[in-house]
Amino acid sequence: MQQAENSRPEIRLKGIAAAPGVGRGPVYLLQKGVPLASCVKVGDLDAEIRRFEEALIATRHEITHLRDKVVGELGESEAAIFDAHLLVLEDVALVDEVIKQVRATGFNIEFCFQEVSQRYIDIFEKMEDDFLRERASDIRDVTSRVMNQLVGISPERVGTPLRKPVVAAKDLTPSETATLPTDGVIAFVTEEGGRTGHSAIMARSLEIPAVVGVRGLLDAVNEDDVILVDGELGLVVINPTAQTIESYQAKEVTIQNRRDRVMKEIGLPDCTLDGVSFSLQANIGGPEDMEDMSLYHAHSVGLYRTENLFLRLDAWPTEEEQYEEYAAVVKQAHGKLVTFRTLDLGGDKRLGDLTDEANPFMGYRAIRLCLDRPDIFRPQLRAILRAAQLGPAAIMFPMISSLEELRKAKQFLRGVATELASEGVTPKGVIRLGAMIEIPAAVAVAEELAQEVDFFSVGTNDLVQYLLAVDRGNQRVATLYEPAHPGFIRTIDKIFSSAKKNNVVSAVCGELAGDSLWAPLFVGMGVDELSMSPGSIPEVRFILRHSTHAELKSLAESVLKMTETAQIKNRMNEFSQTKLKLR
Ligand code: PEP
Ligand code: MG
Repeated sequence: MQQAENSRPEIRLKGIAAAPGVGRGPVYLLQKGVPLASCVKVGDLDAEIRRFEEALIATRHEITHLRDKVVGELGESEAAIFDAHLLVLEDVALVDEVIKQVRATGFNIEFCFQEVSQRYIDIFEKMEDDFLRERASDIRDVTSRVMNQLVGISPERVGTPLRKPVVAAKDLTPSETATLPTDGVIAFVTEEGGRTGHSAIMARSLEIPAVVGVRGLLDAVNEDDVILVDGELGLVVINPTAQTIESYQAKEVTIQNRRDRVMKEIGLPDCTLDGVSFSLQANIGGPEDMEDMSLYHAHSVGLYRTENLFLRLDAWPTEEEQYEEYAAVVKQAHGKLVTFRTLDLGGDKRLGDLTDEANPFMGYRAIRLCLDRPDIFRPQLRAILRAAQLGPAAIMFPMISSLEELRKAKQFLRGVATELASEGVTPKGVIRLGAMIEIPAAVAVAEELAQEVDFFSVGTNDLVQYLLAVDRGNQRVATLYEPAHPGFIRTIDKIFSSAKKNNVVSAVCGELAGDSLWAPLFVGMGVDELSMSPGSIPEVRFILRHSTHAELKSLAESVLKMTETAQIKNRMNEFSQTKLKLR
C-alpha cells in the first residue's frame, strides 16, 4: 500500500455520492450533539468573552428550568442529572482555561470553548472509574447547550475561517447539518445515511461535497488524518498519497471546466432549442439560501422546507420567530413566488421526543403531526399568511395520503385565514394551494386530489421510498433505492397525466428534479415545473436548453416502454452525457 504524506498508509473507502465536488482537509470527528465551530481571528476579545458569559448565564437558566420541570413531573432523583450539568457549567478551571485561550490566541470563543471542552471530554473518557467516565457525556451535553446559545448570540463576522476541516461522523442529523458552520467546512463524510437523507440534501444546497454511507469509516480514521472526499464517485481517501492528490488536481480542473461551461448560460432564457419554455425553481431551507436563488436565476421558490428553522433552533419557534424568518424570505424573493411547504417534521427530522418513534418514516410525521397538533399548526399558518402580505406565496401540504386529509388541512387553513382577516391581515394576491404527492395512495387518488388544489408537487425522495418500501436513509438497502424502476416511472406518468387532465400544474421538488439524468425525462413526460437545490440549476438549464422538446418527448416515450432498470438508466445516461459534452 502507498504511503500518504503523513506516513500513514492511504486507505480508500467506497460510499454513496451525496453532493458533488471534491474536498480535502484535516479530519474533524464530530461528536454527537456538539456543533462544530469554525476558527476565526477576532478583533474585540472583551466582547468575545462577554458573549461567553452571556451564553453561560443563558445555559444556566435553561438547565435550571429543565431541572424544575423534571422535578415537578418526575421527582428529585430523576432531575439529578441536571445538577451534574450545572456543576460542569460552574467549573472554574474550564471557564478560566477557555478565557485564557481566547486571550492567548485571539480566536473566536466558539472555537476556543470547543477545543477546551473536547480536551476535558477526552480526559474523562479515558478514566478507569465508571462514574468519572460518565462525566464525559455531561460535559458533551453542556458544551452542546452553550454552543447553541453562542450560535444564537453570534455577531456578524467577516473573513474566512483559518482551518477548514472535513467533518466525519457516524451520521449527521438534519439539525446537526443545519448548524454546521458552512463557511468553515470543506466536505463531509458519514458512515450511515442515504443520498436522499436530509443531511445529504442540505450538503447539496450548501454546495459542500459529501459522501454518505461509508462502511467502516470511523474505524479507519484517526484524529489527525487528512481526508479527501470525492462527492462525484462516492469515494473517500484517508491520508491520500502525493500521487493521489496530483491525480485529483486534474479531476478538479475537469469538474471546474464543466461548471464554467454550464455557468456561462446562467442568465439565458429557460426554453428548449425549439422554443418551448420550462420553469426551474429553487428548493430552499431559509433566508440564507436566497442569495443562491438569485445567483442561479431561479424562476421562483418551488419548495421552502420550513422545518429547517425548527431544526436549526432545535426548539419550537414562536409565531413571531417564524414570521420574521418567512418575511425575510418573501422580501428577498423580490416579487417572485415563494412556495411554503408546511411543517414536515418527523422521519429523519426529529425534534425533541415528539417524533421519537420506532418507525419514524411511517409514523407521526408532516401533515399527520400538524393536524393532530393545532397548537403547532396554527402559529405556523398564521406566520405564513402574515408573510404572504409582503409578496406572492403558495402553500403546499406534505405527506398527503387521502382526500379527507387534504380537505381537513384546507379547512384548517381557511379557519386561520378567516381569523387573520378579522384582524385586518390579508395576503397579497391569491395563495396558490398544492398537495405534495409522495405517498403511493395519493397517486391512486390523484384525479380526486386534483379537484382540490392548484398544483401537485411530487416529492420523489419519499415517493421512491414508499413505493419500493426502501428506507431512504438506510445505507444497507441503498442499492435498492432505485428510482429507475419501471414501476416508479409509470407512477410519475400517472401523476402528470392526472394533473394535466384536471388543469392542475405539475411540479417535481424531490432531488431527482435537479439530477441531470432525470430532469430531461420529467420535461419530456410533461412536467410544468422543476424545483431543486439552487446549485443544480445551471447544469439542468444547460441540458434542457440544448435539447429540443421533440427529443425530450421521444426520450420519455422510449423510457416509458422499457421494463428493466438497467435499460432505463442507460438511455437516460446516454442522453444527458451527449448533451453535457456539447461545446
Ligand atoms: C421529497 O420527499 O421528495 C421532498 C421534496 O421532501 P423531503 O425531502 O423534505 O421529504
Ligand atoms: Mg418528502
